[in-house]
Amino acid sequence: MSDCLFCKIITGEIPCSNVFEDNKIFVFKDINPRAAVHLLVIPKIHIDSLDELSSDHQALISHIMLQLPDLARSQGLDNGFRTIINTGPDGGQEVGHLHIHLLGGKDLPSFN
Ligand code: AMP
Ligand code: ZN
Repeated sequence: MSDCLFCKIITGEIPCSNVFEDNKIFVFKDINPRAAVHLLVIPKIHIDSLDELSSDHQALISHIMLQLPDLARSQGLDNGFRTIINTGPDGGQEVGHLHIHLLGGKDLPSFN
């Protein structure tokens, strides 16, 4: 998608602090970190949101999920981490390219 912020980050058109990439995913630091560690994990192909997934994406999604613990450890998060996926306007999604927030640090607020 030519007008997508995260697609432009993947191509290098918009700079970012890249942490990891392979043939399927791209990982970079959130520009407005809400925790000591705050990464965004995105597929290299454009998918609008979790709402747009189909069975064609099964291998991609399992690949992403399996990378998350290693990514957390690579950031020094040896004692747990949090993942968040905001979906759609009511879910608080601001960027329309599927992304997983990977957050960690000692003082994450409780959700309840
Ligand atoms: P969401 O609200 O789930 O759509 O999250 C979008 C995230 O993208 C927010 O946490 C923003 O801080 C982050 N963000 C927006 N622009 C950039 C950028 N240029 N580089 C890195 N992160 C960004
Ligand atoms: Zn995109």
